[in-house]
Amino acid sequence: MRRGHALACHGLDHGLLTDKGLDQFADETQRARAMIEAAAGQRITGYRASCFTMERDKLDVLRQMGFTYDSSKIRFVQHPLYRNLDLTGFQQADDLVYVREGFAEYEIPTLEIGGYSVPISGGGYLRLFPFWLLHILLGLYARRHENFTIYVHPFELTDLPLPLPKGLGRATRFRCLVGRRGNLKKLRRVIRWLKKRGARFLTLEADRRERGLS
Ligand SMILES: [Zn+2]
Repeated sequence: MRRGHALACHGLDHGLLTDKGLDQFADETQRARAMIEAAAGQRITGYRASCFTMERDKLDVLRQMGFTYDSSKIRFVQHPLYRNLDLTGFQQADDLVYVREGFAEYEIPTLEIGGYSVPISGGGYLRLFPFWLLHILLGLYARRHENFTIYVHPFELTDLPLPLPKGLGRATRFRCLVGRRGNLKKLRRVIRWLKKRGARFLTLEADRRERGLS
């Protein structure tokens, strides 16, 4: 926290929210939040759904539970898991930012190319794309957008052996493991590129505060 980071919740078991009922979601979220709060000694008010599988009724549960922001919306129509989260009743406050009654939803950046929306700022895409390609895509993105977020799991920044469950399919293993070696270096290059363009870095919590939502 002293270095300008913020903690938020990414669920209890990284299961897809689309496989969970509302009660299960509320119960697991409460347990996950309590664990992080006990470990960190601070209140947790942000959420990101595993694999961006947030649904509108679960977003409303988060709001009722006292969460103040979520970042699970992604425009990624061609992916079988990702939904385009329904934000009826929210106002778009800024590029990638939607607000309703003090609650903020931060969209994951994607780049529209030939009818596809390509995520360029995290996950397997960040790991898979070489820097020269990312550089081109980021340049295109920056022409059309004001805001940007980067998302990584800690395991994506190391090449330590992963304790993957047995019986995982080859495609899933590939998705988990591809491009981890060198990803930290690539992320540093992306951050340097953003800094050179004058980007300002801040947490989503700080962004909320700046918008007067706290
Ligand atoms: Zn995740």
